[in-house]
Amino acid sequence: MELQHADVIVIGAGTVGSMALWQLSKREGLTVVGIEQYGPVHPHGSYAGESRVFRTAVHEGGTYVGMIQRSRELWRELERESGRDIYAEVGCLSIAPEGFPDLETAIGTVRQFDIPHRLLSTEDLRAQYPQHRIADGDVALLDEHGGGLRPEVAVMSALDLAEANGAELHFNTPVLELEERGSGVVVRTTQGAWLARTVVVASGSWSTRLSPELNDLLRLQVLGLTWFMPRHPEQFVPERFPAFLRDAGPIHFFGAPSFDGYSFKACTNPEWPVFRDVDDVPVSHTRAELIKIGQRASELFPGINPEPVRQSVHHCAYTPDRLPVVDRSASGRVVTVTGLSGHGFKFSPQLGEWAAQLAAGDDLDAVTGWDPRFALPAHLERLAATGPYTGGGH
Ligand SMILES: Cc1cc2nc3c(=O)[nH]c(=O)nc-3n(C[C@H](O)[C@H](O)[C@H](O)COP(=O)(O)OP(=O)(O)OC[C@H]3O[C@@H](n4cnc5c(N)ncnc54)[C@H](O)[C@@H]3O)c2cc1C
Repeated sequence: MELQHADVIVIGAGTVGSMALWQLSKREGLTVVGIEQYGPVHPHGSYAGESRVFRTAVHEGGTYVGMIQRSRELWRELERESGRDIYAEVGCLSIAPEGFPDLETAIGTVRQFDIPHRLLSTEDLRAQYPQHRIADGDVALLDEHGGGLRPEVAVMSALDLAEANGAELHFNTPVLELEERGSGVVVRTTQGAWLARTVVVASGSWSTRLSPELNDLLRLQVLGLTWFMPRHPEQFVPERFPAFLRDAGPIHFFGAPSFDGYSFKACTNPEWPVFRDVDDVPVSHTRAELIKIGQRASELFPGINPEPVRQSVHHCAYTPDRLPVVDRSASGRVVTVTGLSGHGFKFSPQLGEWAAQLAAGDDLDAVTGWDPRFALPAHLERLAATGPYTGGGH
């Protein structure tokens, strides 16, 4: 079979792939090819579903702060270069009973990294955010750099820019197999084969199919999205209703303001088991699940229609400790970025930048902010101690 040639091939033009293509396309003299199994923006990837929460005051402590701050700059750059609205910086509210551990960690993080924020008492919350039903003892942190990202617009914008900068993009072209040779990596697809100097594998939930060495590490978490219609939609517009994370007893909700003018997003923690392959993942909520989510949402938001007006079910590849995999093989030819573990959209521009640097051959030491815990051998070492991710997190 005749081989086509490229310097770098990016497999998967979703979240990480689109950001990597955008970054690689800015490098002079590189021939860059992106290969995607579906169309340019599609509903099957982990980015689908209208909005993603962006927060700098993370509940996970300091690990992600540098990546998020760099990503915030790159989100703005993507907006400038594409001329599209991608990042609505409307703030992100974390509401929880006073002393709730995740909230305390987030407060510690904003103080440590000097992140612009406000602390709100129960009374402040009731006065300023009547959209939420606030229980006695609930308090909040408003992360002023937080807000909502528009993932489909982001992916499309990064792909458009990559193409305008000279990257060649192939859609509806599943990659079947990778084979490392002395001279490079052969990428076999349904539409022919390429030989690339380096390959970026950014295939998200499908990663184990191309990289069996990830089999033990990754599990698929199913994540459902639900949108509710409030009696007063004007209270839920981005200018008045920040993105939010909400902990009330055992219930965790997260969501975003209304981007469509009639509904806002409010979703709860997944109760599905974990899966190994995308083909096994359920494609919709059951009726009973929707009724239960609607009842819970009604407890937290007074005056909403308890029937979700929109719903969808997605999946994401998780590592046990939810740190992403960002690594380059010993040969230097295969860069893998996966395992974004249900929280990686916000820092995907940073992951794309790292992927581009690694694929272009930059020294690992020169990759600013890259954490040695993201290397595959380090993941596998921790996996041996903890076992795989078993579910329940978002
Ligand atoms: C419902 C839900 C809510 C979330 N909420 C948030 C949030 O609020 N904030 C946040 O920061 N993060 C959030 N996340 C996490 C974030 O959206 C994901 O972690 C991220 O989108 C994963 O990106 P990815 O590039 O790994 O995968 P994807 O974006 O799915 O990209 C993988 C791409 O590879 C393609 N592909 C796979 N195999 C092949 C192949 N063999 N050949 C060619 N193409 C292939 C796929 O078609 C796909 O386009 C959420 C995730 C979900 C599912």
